[in-house]
Amino acid sequence: MATENSKLESLSKILRQEKAVGFPDTTVIGGLDAFLQRWAAELVPTLGEIRSYGVLTPQQREKWVEAVLTRTRDGDKQPAPDARPPRRRKTANPPAPAMSLDDDVTRVRGVSTQYLSKLKRVGVEKVRDLLYLFPNRHNDFANIRTVSQLQPGEDQTVVVTVWETSETGPVPRRRSTQAVLGDDTGNVRAIWFNQPWMARNLKPGTQVVISGKVNVFRGQFVFESPEYELLKGQDELVHTGRLVPVYPSTEGLPQRTLRRVVKQALDAGISQVSDFLPDDIKHRTGLMGLKNAIAQAHYPDSVADWNSARRRLAFDELFLMQLAVLTRKRDWQEEGRGIPIKIASDPLESFLNSLPFSLTGAQSRVLDEILERLQRDKPMSHLIQGDVGSGKTVVAVAALLVAAFDGYQGAMMVPTEILAEQHFVTIARLFSALSESTRSEHLISIQIDEFPRPLTVGLLLGSLSAKIKVDMHERIGRGEIDLVVGTHALIQAGVDIPRLAVVVVDEQHRFGVTQRGALREKGQRPHVLAMSATPIPRSLALTMYGDLDISVIDEMPPGRQRIRTRWIEPDRREAAYSFVRKEVEAGRQAFIVCPLIDESEAIQSRAAVKEHEHLSAQVFPELRLGLLHGRMALAEKEQVMERFQGGELDILVSTPVIEVGIDVANATVMLIDGADRFGLSQLHQFRGRVGRGPHQSYCLLLADSPGGEARERLRIVERIHDGFQLAEEDLRIRGPGEYLGTRQSGLPTFKVARITDQEILSLARREATKVLESDPGLTRQANIALARHFQRYSSDLTSEMS
Ligand code: ADP
Ligand code: MG
Repeated sequence: MATENSKLESLSKILRQEKAVGFPDTTVIGGLDAFLQRWAAELVPTLGEIRSYGVLTPQQREKWVEAVLTRTRDGDKQPAPDARPPRRRKTANPPAPAMSLDDDVTRVRGVSTQYLSKLKRVGVEKVRDLLYLFPNRHNDFANIRTVSQLQPGEDQTVVVTVWETSETGPVPRRRSTQAVLGDDTGNVRAIWFNQPWMARNLKPGTQVVISGKVNVFRGQFVFESPEYELLKGQDELVHTGRLVPVYPSTEGLPQRTLRRVVKQALDAGISQVSDFLPDDIKHRTGLMGLKNAIAQAHYPDSVADWNSARRRLAFDELFLMQLAVLTRKRDWQEEGRGIPIKIASDPLESFLNSLPFSLTGAQSRVLDEILERLQRDKPMSHLIQGDVGSGKTVVAVAALLVAAFDGYQGAMMVPTEILAEQHFVTIARLFSALSESTRSEHLISIQIDEFPRPLTVGLLLGSLSAKIKVDMHERIGRGEIDLVVGTHALIQAGVDIPRLAVVVVDEQHRFGVTQRGALREKGQRPHVLAMSATPIPRSLALTMYGDLDISVIDEMPPGRQRIRTRWIEPDRREAAYSFVRKEVEAGRQAFIVCPLIDESEAIQSRAAVKEHEHLSAQVFPELRLGLLHGRMALAEKEQVMERFQGGELDILVSTPVIEVGIDVANATVMLIDGADRFGLSQLHQFRGRVGRGPHQSYCLLLADSPGGEARERLRIVERIHDGFQLAEEDLRIRGPGEYLGTRQSGLPTFKVARITDQEILSLARREATKVLESDPGLTRQANIALARHFQRYSSDLTSEMS
């Protein structure tokens, strides 16, 4: 509760503001009355008799305001808080304890166990990670606006006093906290959703820094979910100067804490940073030194310094990535010939003819392009881009078959066990019309006329028992298995695929650069075919992947219907469930995806178990529900998928593992709970799980209280059905930096580099080429530090995705 004094102060401010603009009753959103009413009881002596300010004429308002202001004159005399926080002299930090960059982050004072998991969420485990936890942006305390200077649509910062806060929210789970804030020049409102603790933080009378975009709502300025920071007691904020870092924060990890912890790590660790970039590169490029760049990235002396720091750090990321791409490309091409495959067209033809459909024009064209390259003696490196459901699998299977017919082995690597399982079954199904096949749990053998012995397809997963794994490794090693489908278990040590000629990497955006490369190392320069439904800009792909060729399947199989996509408001949840029930009664099936609450598979799986229980018991007690999550044993997953495929289950409740690949023609509803938590590409992938059969299909997006950006995403998914167009939108909304940094892009994680850094990218590529030309093994004295750093980078890359 605000003290009476602070209320009086706020009141007089509001009234002075009202006076300054001529008593239009716009100072407080919704009118002054609501505001007065709330405070009337305590402020009767000051307010006097007033029924309603709103109904008064301007003259009457003036009279009343003057009277109240006279009564609050005491408050008036107090100096208005300065809009700028006072600068304090820097105080020397107490000597920091000796800590090494490789130490656990717990070495930093003030990092208690309660913060550990939260720090981990923003990628911090070691002291070094804190140095590399770069701010998202800076609050420019030299450039604070007054409320009257605010411009709609721009990112901006104001220092204001909290006048009042209130919580609204008739709808549970959609509470909002509103605050009326102001400085000497005017008032502005701010609103946060689903953060009940906000009201406690923003006590009337406190000074706060608010940063974010201002929108106009009913003619008034409103900050929607802005960043905020309390000014009181924030020494760091005050003594750090003008550009203050704003770190990527997470719930329960306040900026204040992050700032203090990072500062300590910087103070103690910056001197231990050694610049791995060879001097000649620094000379040629004029890039800032690493120590300085890290320091300036956190606490820049000026915007120009920050830019230089960013440039250096972005260069580092792109340079290392280029080194990785170039060394891999070199290692793989240098040793010479690839495997020219002889295409046996008869068996291929009979396979294609046996399919229940004919290839689309685009599928045929892309298959031809691939067949042409498979015959060359240079290893193919090819990317197929095609929207979800465009039919990439059959093209890949055809390429694998061609290799098998010529006596080689083929491998298909996919990101999840469920998808591997599914492809394994799909391959059996694709052949079913052509020939007899027998299937065990992880082996299928198929009799093919033209083929001397049964064609054998194997399934290799990390979760197989050790005994079976060994058996599979041996069979693969002896060349008994012609095609092997698997997860990244395929690239683990111990798997030798001696006659590997074609490698398919499905959903390639889910794999790291190194993982793609590792499969390539398994054979003698096999052809590599990557597939993705997530397009990345061509120019970027070319630079990132070296000499990759790209084909696009830009046509959908005939008869596909547009999937009706609707964003459902939270109060319509029941209606959404009824809809699911109706479809099930009509003989269809549905997916329900649980909200994404955590990247951790264990936590996510637990949540799915709960949700499944709840839906089974409370919502759909009369229906047959199945559950699918990443932590289930393989046999369980298989069983559930089979039962769903076979129509024994009506609804499949799943974690986001369902995202890729799953193909069940009778499923017509994809209900995504917590849809606001997913990115555009992911939503599109989920949606692609339905509409695979003849029935009209639906995608229902349940979102509790989407913020501005999430709303925009949901609207876009409703409207746009083309994956390529969606990718462009994704790029536009999230911005290039974000797009580059996520797993959707299929690129290593960048913290600093952005997609628009084309110039830095070319510079990095040029320098990486130069270094490797003059010192291919990075063995020269001048490159020792670089070599060491690069080694660590490469092993991080590998572990990043595993
Ligand atoms: P994606 O490109 O998303 O991997 P899939 O390969 O899973 O798509 O194909 C989606 C579905 O379309 C599968 O059920 C597949 O059998 C079917 N399909 C593929 N090509 C055709 C085609 N030319 N005509 C009709 N159906 C097709
Ligand atoms: Mg696919």
